[in-house]
Amino acid sequence: MEKHKEILKQCAQLLANSQRVLFLTSAGMSADSNIPTFRDKDGYWRNFPPFKEKNLEAQDLASPWAFRNVLPHAWAFYEWRRRNADENEPHEGYRIINRWMEEHFNEAFIHTTNTDGYHLLSGSPIDRVMEVHGSMWRLQCLEVCSHNFWDELAVPLCEMSHETMKAWGYPKCPHCHAIARPHILMFGDGEYVGHPEQERNFQRFLQEPIDLAILVGSSGAVPTNDYIAVHLQSQGTKVININPDPSTNSIAGTEYFLPMTSEAAFIALNQAAF
Ligand SMILES: [Zn+2]
Repeated sequence: MEKHKEILKQCAQLLANSQRVLFLTSAGMSADSNIPTFRDKDGYWRNFPPFKEKNLEAQDLASPWAFRNVLPHAWAFYEWRRRNADENEPHEGYRIINRWMEEHFNEAFIHTTNTDGYHLLSGSPIDRVMEVHGSMWRLQCLEVCSHNFWDELAVPLCEMSHETMKAWGYPKCPHCHAIARPHILMFGDGEYVGHPEQERNFQRFLQEPIDLAILVGSSGAVPTNDYIAVHLQSQGTKVININPDPSTNSIAGTEYFLPMTSEAAFIALNQAAF
């Protein structure tokens, strides 16, 4: 506990002394808002008995293959996730990040692997967020008739039955009237059109030295953000890693490791630093 307090103090000092800061947020950030990650297979099967019957795993459904071959299930899976994200809300940690960005740092940026859109929904500046795996609140054409994508915030969007986990009444592409799909980088996905504007904003932010990177809720299964942290560390950036599971620090290996859930950590850091 004492050691924990000492690290919290050191992290608060880092925060208070940093001007350019990069937030690297992953599943653990959303988990505190009750957004399921589907990495817990038992929980997933319990939620979706029809998928268990057909042995359709989360990775199978989150794929262009599923949108072509088991379309009612594929859209039901995303419709369920949109409704779930809509029923929950961004926790206090999101608002603390936004406040820090506005009041304390010269320049900051959020790079997230989450697709729930919670950073933007919580009010983060639109040109300061990179959703590297896309967002469930945008759609693109399943047939990729163009590289366009568009906002779609309606809930519900499709009709669906929880009993069968089948959806109907799919959204359409406004250009060619083919069925639309989430603007999300799915598994085995060569058809995701990406977000060039977010990409440009992120690359621009990376042009100048970054004092501090804050890695939040990352998992060994999707280490995208960990590798960015490791790269920045080699260039002199300090890294704070927030995660209740100490084994997740094996990639970044930072001395500033806070074994806490994301919301609790941001509240504690906010009190200690500002
Ligand atoms: Zn189209």
